[in-house]
Amino acid sequence: MEQTFIMIKPDGVQRGLVGEIISRFEKKGFTLAGLKFITVDRPFAEKHYEDLSAKPFFNGLVEYIISGPVVAMVWQGKNVVTTGRKIIGATNPAESAPGTIRGDFAIEIGRNVIHGSDAVESARKEIALWFPDGPVSWRSSLNPWIYE
Ligand code: UDP
Ligand code: MG
Repeated sequence: MEQTFIMIKPDGVQRGLVGEIISRFEKKGFTLAGLKFITVDRPFAEKHYEDLSAKPFFNGLVEYIISGPVVAMVWQGKNVVTTGRKIIGATNPAESAPGTIRGDFAIEIGRNVIHGSDAVESARKEIALWFPDGPVSWRSSLNPWIYE
């Protein structure tokens, strides 16, 4: 089953959105396969966002991610990478549809509450970085009620 890496950023944690965000993924029918609450250091944040290192917002982005604890998660399910991005909404909350996490809970691009992998391959890399021991392997007994 497909997996994606989802991170509630420090603003999402500070604003008390952890339960709400986990609930949205859970209620959709996706299953949790990894969860940890951690503060990451600068080299780790730079590694996570290494593809964006040439961008003008890179330093600010790294400062933002290391500014407080984050909730790092692996979610699992059919098409979870693409659907997870839809649940999250557009990068810039000004363009995120209402009903999406960023559309409902954020205003500015540099405080957009949540990260989600953008492709199956980047999900694989991000999960390996954040969960070096691998996600938890289990099967939800609800699966027959979610998948036909
Ligand atoms: N970001 C920013 N300014 C920009 C573009 C992106 O501060 O002009 C931040 C924003 O927090 C975004 C993160 O950098 O979520 C990673 O950018 P990416 O393009 O990968 O967007 P995402 O995949 O998070 O939607
Ligand atoms: Mg991205």
